[in-house]
Amino acid sequence: MNACLSIAGETAPINAMSVDVEEWFQVGAFERVIDRADWASFAPRVEGNCAHLLDLFAEAGITATFFILGWIAARHGSLIRRIAAAGHEIASHGWDHTRVFLLTPAAFAADIARAKATLEDAGGVAVTGYRAPSFSIDGRTPWAHRLLAEAGHRYSSSVAPIAHDHYGWRAAPRFAFRPLADAALIELPVTTVSYAGRRMAAGGGGFFRVMPYGFSRWAIRRVNSHDARPAITYFHPWEIDPHQPRVRGAGLRARLRHYTNLAGMAGKLRRLAGDFAWGRVDAVVAAEAWRAEVWPAPQ
Ligand SMILES: [Zn+2]
Repeated sequence: MNACLSIAGETAPINAMSVDVEEWFQVGAFERVIDRADWASFAPRVEGNCAHLLDLFAEAGITATFFILGWIAARHGSLIRRIAAAGHEIASHGWDHTRVFLLTPAAFAADIARAKATLEDAGGVAVTGYRAPSFSIDGRTPWAHRLLAEAGHRYSSSVAPIAHDHYGWRAAPRFAFRPLADAALIELPVTTVSYAGRRMAAGGGGFFRVMPYGFSRWAIRRVNSHDARPAITYFHPWEIDPHQPRVRGAGLRARLRHYTNLAGMAGKLRRLAGDFAWGRVDAVVAAEAWRAEVWPAPQ
């Protein structure tokens, strides 16, 4: 596999580009004011926003992984086929964005099975990747990786090894690891950057949107050169949609997180796409598997 790209005599790893496909009304920031039971009453925007992203990726000549909610695949089958036909990876983001640590093991098993089957039916492709909603696999869910392996997933990109107010598993490794000693499943944590003794989220989403682009570029370069590892970045279709309806009743903090710099996002993504080598998450997992160690270490 061509996992590396040679640039000016140096070998830079291929980084993973990913999109967490959910609607503007399905984000965690608004879950207190928007009931899941009302989702069907909101105007969908995911097809237009994904079309914009597909154009952007095609212009840049890159392929990516789309972690998609089963709820969306059930309603937008042609979108799933269109994403797959463009050479991108179809992967699972669970059924309806319920965070893993809020589910029982049995409910989680049902959630991931339903999402995987619906995505495979819609896309006509095998689904082997999974990303937990809001990076919600952590020390509270020691059963999650086992259930993912049993469901036929080959990798997960569901851990944020940081301390954060909404998510995070600070003790977890920063790079690819094997969460099960007796299974090949790989966990590929979202990118963090370690600097001056501090560990910061640098993988994308609100961070990428709100901070100056130069900081993200610096962070990815540092991970690629100092750590000699690929970066795993992510964002959402609604982040390139400045015209989405505004949600009333949400708190100031949630609104700030959601609406800052939406208009500048497409331009930032074009720069990001052009400044680094990018590929699908499954390709990066394959390239990293040889050095993924078992964690936590077997007793
Ligand atoms: Zn999500």
